[in-house]
Amino acid sequence: MEPPNQSTTLHTSKAHLQPAEEMRDVHQTSCCIVGGGPGGAVLALLLARRGVPVTLLEMHKDFDREFRGDTIHPSVMEVLDQIGLAAPLHELRHSKVSGPTLRFANGPFRLFDLGRLKTRFPYILLVAQARFLEFITREAAKYPSFRLVMQAHVQRLVEEAGVVRGVGYLGADGWHEVRSQLTVGADGRFSQVRQLAGIVPVKSAPPMDVLWFRLPRLPEDPDVAGGALGGIGRGRILVVLDRFDYWQAGLVFSKGHYQELRGEGVESVRRSIIEAEPRFSKHSESLADWHQFSLLSVEANRCKCWHKPGLLLIGDAAHVMSPVGGVGINYAIQDAVVAANVLTEPLRSGRVQEAHLAEVQRQRLWPTRVIQSMQSFMQERLIAPALLSQQVGNVPWALRLLVRTPILGTLPARLIAFGARRVRLNSV
Ligand SMILES: Cc1cc2nc3c(=O)[nH]c(=O)nc-3n(C[C@H](O)[C@H](O)[C@H](O)COP(=O)(O)OP(=O)(O)OC[C@H]3O[C@@H](n4cnc5c(N)ncnc54)[C@H](O)[C@@H]3O)c2cc1C
Repeated sequence: MEPPNQSTTLHTSKAHLQPAEEMRDVHQTSCCIVGGGPGGAVLALLLARRGVPVTLLEMHKDFDREFRGDTIHPSVMEVLDQIGLAAPLHELRHSKVSGPTLRFANGPFRLFDLGRLKTRFPYILLVAQARFLEFITREAAKYPSFRLVMQAHVQRLVEEAGVVRGVGYLGADGWHEVRSQLTVGADGRFSQVRQLAGIVPVKSAPPMDVLWFRLPRLPEDPDVAGGALGGIGRGRILVVLDRFDYWQAGLVFSKGHYQELRGEGVESVRRSIIEAEPRFSKHSESLADWHQFSLLSVEANRCKCWHKPGLLLIGDAAHVMSPVGGVGINYAIQDAVVAANVLTEPLRSGRVQEAHLAEVQRQRLWPTRVIQSMQSFMQERLIAPALLSQQVGNVPWALRLLVRTPILGTLPARLIAFGARRVRLNSV
């Protein structure tokens, strides 16, 4: 796999297109990343700043779209700090969460408190994901080896003798091709790259779905310890995050009950809010129309193999995480950091082997398994019983005991902050 040393545009290749589908150009680069989400954007930045020619293809025209989570975890901030970007990141409009206090029948309970961790960043930074992605790609654009193409909808893999050599995408002005030594599928949970490569993830079905919505900030609202709170109502769990000008709320309910919830109407959501957290009774009056809600159909999956010759999957394309602990963005970025650690030198020397891709998977698979197992445990032992019960439940005494124990007590916080393995950049 011999790459050119810099990004160049080559002559048009029409070999595999229908006559009506004129290929406009063929661009050559070292690494072609499909998907400008957190995983793809951060990988592009990390490679570009080490001089690797990289093209990032994003199918949307901008980074503004439906809510997909705005959480930047301590481990991501530590990595950005290594390359001098933690301080500018904090200049973006943000709020901070160190752990929600949930209301149970036997009193309030805080499962994790990031404030107890030894890190420069003992909190989750809430930054609108669109602003975060703009920030990362703006930084990447400072390096001449970086190229970003928006409105580039990847629909084909270029393959030669069983090796992926790039992609074909439909842009605003027609078809284009990017030829590369390595293609990275960072195109999210419905990954087209994964599908084109014939890789099928193994699914699990967490027993819940989440309805996301906003609640207004009222003048009399108190400061909330830890930046988040919540409660358990009859068969539903409410989580509320402080977003400065508004509250971001998630109502967790049993999987498969969305139509029933919708049939009951907005009034039923309002009732659940009041049951779970009476302090939000007045806020709930702002909910009047179903358009104010967006549904997260919760699923989790993991691919057995994240690569094939010339192709690597990272982030949600390789593993969709359940929302328990909100670690999806963290894990996608950690994959990117490990991919940059392992692949920068091989990409620079034009010697990427499948063994390098397998090494990325080796380093990331077990932390993914550990967190997914922890999420399954929480879902089965805590969340499912709470959703099935028509009573406001108690916190199990064993859990209360656990969080008070000196070392074990910070385990949930450490897993949420850093994942199962703390990831750092090998060279900066
Ligand atoms: C409603 C909702 C709420 C969430 N809340 C949280 C949260 O609070 N915290 C958290 O950590 N995680 C949360 N998640 C999960 C989180 O969004 C993902 O885990 C994370 O974004 C994965 O990052 P990624 O880079 O792998 O993929 P994505 O963020 O999904 O990015 C993939 C990108 O690829 C682009 N793309 C897709 N197909 C193509 C194609 N064919 N060609 C070109 N581009 C393409 C997409 O437009 C997208 O920009 C939430 C998810 C949802 C749906």
